[in-house]
Amino acid sequence: MSDTIAAISTAIGEAGIGIVRMSGENSLDIADKIFRGSKVDSLKRAKNRRLTYGHIVDFNTEEIIDEVLIVYMKKPYTYTRENMVEIYCHGGIISVKKILELLLETGARLAEPGEFTKRAFLNGRLDLAQSEAVIDVIRAKTEKSFNVSLDQLEGSLSNKIKEIMTILLEMIAHIEASIDFPEDDVEDLAYDELREKAIIVKQEIEMLLNTSDRGKILRDGLNTVILGKPNVGKSSLLNAILRENRAIVTNIPGTTRDVIEEYVNIDGIPLRIVDTAGIRSTEDLVEKIGVDKAKEMVDESDLVIAVFDASDRLTDEDYEIIDIIKNKNSIILLNKTDLPNKYDETYLKKLLPNKEIIITSIVKGLGLNKLEDTIKDMFYSGELEVESDVIVTNIRHKNQLVKAKKNMEDGIEGIDLNMPLDCIEVDVKSCWENLGEISGDTVGEDILDKIFSEFCIGK
Ligand code: GDP
Repeated sequence: MSDTIAAISTAIGEAGIGIVRMSGENSLDIADKIFRGSKVDSLKRAKNRRLTYGHIVDFNTEEIIDEVLIVYMKKPYTYTRENMVEIYCHGGIISVKKILELLLETGARLAEPGEFTKRAFLNGRLDLAQSEAVIDVIRAKTEKSFNVSLDQLEGSLSNKIKEIMTILLEMIAHIEASIDFPEDDVEDLAYDELREKAIIVKQEIEMLLNTSDRGKILRDGLNTVILGKPNVGKSSLLNAILRENRAIVTNIPGTTRDVIEEYVNIDGIPLRIVDTAGIRSTEDLVEKIGVDKAKEMVDESDLVIAVFDASDRLTDEDYEIIDIIKNKNSIILLNKTDLPNKYDETYLKKLLPNKEIIITSIVKGLGLNKLEDTIKDMFYSGELEVESDVIVTNIRHKNQLVKAKKNMEDGIEGIDLNMPLDCIEVDVKSCWENLGEISGDTVGEDILDKIFSEFCIGK
């Protein structure tokens, strides 16, 4: 823990500047060996938290590596609560790499993924939920998800969890006092008060859980599949949506042919459209990947947009698609309505009751606004509409809340059955521990390692 770590903290690639970061006891000594200031001869004479101009040199040869600004930040008022140095050099690949290599040669160790943030957590600057929010802030796809992550980084979720944990601690204290002074009337009172508090705890947990569907979508995007037989207008639709709303394109690595994820931003709702084989090309998704695979994709999706051709009669492929999407969250587009109509909309409505059918002509740009409105309506409908100030976005947090809720339900059952107080205490304590794993108060080393390993190096 006492070693000094270093890493490149900016994305590698052509850029104006790049930042190499170092944290640990010896940061200043290590940086001093390779920094030559233009005004100060040693970094140790530079002012704390002030930028200093100079050069990084190869300490063996004094050859200049790059022209930089450097800052030393003395603990404890730093990101990691340790001594830190940041070097602002030219962007690109060479300078940052060379500087990092020099730091590693002079005594720093390469940071593990997320190790800066892990130290911030271990040194008490951030709790675990806040640390996890750091990665969400970096990965946010829309302004809304960014804002939610930023709130969590500021501690919104942690504070809510702490409030609930305080009630649980009061319950535990109450139970222990009652066990120590077991007069009958005190005990009756204990059960009443415990029930009251347990119900509040359960409700608070449920309220947080209710936000998690929306939170997942905000964080990961609404997993969207566009389905339709060949030539109905799927790629035209994708292109039309992208033209107006494109947010981010990412490659999903690890596949032989890279699958492209397109993120579009529909009024703050991120749609993740996985552009697998077929949608972009002229071939058809169902035809190309097979009905089973299409079904699987549909099963994994949050939303299906099924496209039908109004200028053609329903074909076997259309029926197959209708079958696949019947029980899914889906929006039906009846496209090419600018052409002579061969389609019986009422018949389609009968086949797909309770589904929104939107009349479109994608080439003429008709119906696309309606599509966006429908997506928004679906997303904001029902319980999701409740604007909560705290939104659970992280699946790990959700799982902990589910466990904690079960603990409280068991506890309430025990109270109702007048079970011995020490039995009830077990549930209350488990609930407290499960919530504590969200904030990191009660979390094990293995979980920590797993969480921080998902970070990038340099964060
Ligand atoms: P995909 O095979 O489902 O991806 O279909 P495409 O998007 O490639 O479209 C097939 C053809 O239909 C193209 O020539 C499009 O220009 C045309 N098309 C798409 N939407 C419409 C529409 O609303 N009206 C008309 N008339 N043609 C359309």
